[in-house]
Amino acid sequence: MNRRKALAEVRKILAENQIEDATLEGEILLRHILGINRSQLYTDLDNDIKPADVKHLLKLIEKRTKGEPSAYITGHKEFYGLDFIVNQRVLIPRPETELLVEQAISLCQEYRYSTIADIGTGCGAIAISLAVSIPNIKISAIDISNDALKVTKQNCEKHGVLDKVTLLHGNLLQSLPELVDIIVANLPYVREKDMPDKGPLSFEPSLALNGGEKGLDKIKTLCHQAVNKLNKKGSLLLEIGQRQSGDVMAILREHFPSGLVEVKKDLAGIERVIILRLT
Ligand code: GLN
Repeated sequence: MNRRKALAEVRKILAENQIEDATLEGEILLRHILGINRSQLYTDLDNDIKPADVKHLLKLIEKRTKGEPSAYITGHKEFYGLDFIVNQRVLIPRPETELLVEQAISLCQEYRYSTIADIGTGCGAIAISLAVSIPNIKISAIDISNDALKVTKQNCEKHGVLDKVTLLHGNLLQSLPELVDIIVANLPYVREKDMPDKGPLSFEPSLALNGGEKGLDKIKTLCHQAVNKLNKKGSLLLEIGQRQSGDVMAILREHFPSGLVEVKKDLAGIERVIILRLT
């Protein structure tokens, strides 16, 4: 079977199993097996695929149709133009989180920030994207899960940023030894009742998703702790879920009455990032 035929077959099976983006997902799985990038795949569409690779591909397709996300099947996910190692110990980075990274970079430029704390760093997607993009920055990447921190470390090594990123184990800001200029966090914010028992989200660590009754438990605690962890002209950036902006703004105003609060929408038009500036 050649690559063109394989792509068509895979797309068909995935689509029949109600997998969204069947074309893209099929391509990711095929490329993973062949160990090639996108342009290599499409330049040689008539190349034959070895029978052993076809068999392997069918196995992966079966996993995918049973709900396992492609990122866990391949062990990789692209975020902010970088390739990250992922596994079931960490949340899969989402494209909408790139908004948080963009906003953090522009604040760091505007205020010449030199220290960042990334709370609930997981695979390190946010911390490492910032480390790669901002010269002379020092980042503390903190997670409560030691298992997750093993993945963060692998990704720091992969992207050569271990000199800029310090890994810390701890509950939110508790283990952060000194004040920082900017705190960024994509904490668990899924409401308890929305936690799925099937589908792709059920493969991800609930520790990284479950934010309690209103989804705001961790965000609340972080805002409380941040009062004593931010430098004078510091900022706090939080990723939030749908219809959480009002509650999170109220929490921020309570803890930082003189701070400026702003909400940014993601590409889907959903309020996704809340920015607090102390300046
Ligand atoms: N954005 C994730 C989702 O798909 C939730 C991530 C989080 O809780 N921080 O629901």
